[in-house]
Amino acid sequence: MTRPEVRIYEVGPRDGLQAEATIVSTEAKLAFIHMLAAAGLREIETTSLVSPKAIPQMADADELLKQLVRRPGVRYPVLVPNARGLERAIAAEVDAICLITAATNGYVQHNIGMSIDESLAAFEPIAAEARRRGWWIRAYISTAFGCPYEGRVDERAVVSVAERLLRMGVDELSISDTLGVAAPLDVARVLSALDGAGIGAEVIALHLHDTRGTALANVMAALELGVRCFDSSAGGTGGSPYAPGSAGNLATEDLVYLLDRQGVRSGVNLDGILAAARFIATQLGGEVGSRVGRAGAWPQ
Ligand code: MG
Repeated sequence: MTRPEVRIYEVGPRDGLQAEATIVSTEAKLAFIHMLAAAGLREIETTSLVSPKAIPQMADADELLKQLVRRPGVRYPVLVPNARGLERAIAAEVDAICLITAATNGYVQHNIGMSIDESLAAFEPIAAEARRRGWWIRAYISTAFGCPYEGRVDERAVVSVAERLLRMGVDELSISDTLGVAAPLDVARVLSALDGAGIGAEVIALHLHDTRGTALANVMAALELGVRCFDSSAGGTGGSPYAPGSAGNLATEDLVYLLDRQGVRSGVNLDGILAAARFIATQLGGEVGSRVGRAGAWPQ
């Protein structure tokens, strides 16, 4: 197979499901993850090693990682929120982790009860240990375009957090439109500010929510600007539980459809994603809500 031009980073099993009130069985989550890998996804964020009290949907994280059959060539990152999560990640023998902070103090405070500074200080030893073990590290910068508590976000706030995360040894930054408010000009503004600080597109992923219907337009803008990694969720699940008013993540099938039509190789099979999206929608007791999920692929 020719080398993909764009990486699609699947967030459905973690970011998608954590927002859903219906608890999905471990068996069904594993089946979902296997379907996603079979559809050609090479990066699947698998679960969160968060306290089960904070997010009951992720209470089976350790068990899920124990049972997960890792497909060669697929990366299965897990979210590590704190030192306890790191211990669990070590026990589960993971090799890729994610950290989450934000560009705004209001959001981090509501999300994890810390300031940005406190969150970065807490991540420092986690990142150091992950680096020592040779793990791949990704960090999310939530609310990079808008915050439910602080409103508009200045691009300099994003740059400042990005610089500090990269100094920690993070491999990739996922610049996140948690609220789904960004338009292409905002994407250009933030990417240009990052570029101005020496942070190039090669370390950047874009995490888009389609709350206001701008996600795919933002993908097009970011492609023009050299971004080659996009986060998405099969079925479009995953409004942030901490961001009132946010709708789901950009749906993987909507993203794959656009890339296919544009002739941009992702290595991901649309029919396979649609099957996975339908499977998880059934588990959640509903139907696939994404555009391509409803309308189907074309040509058939
Ligand atoms: Mg999300």
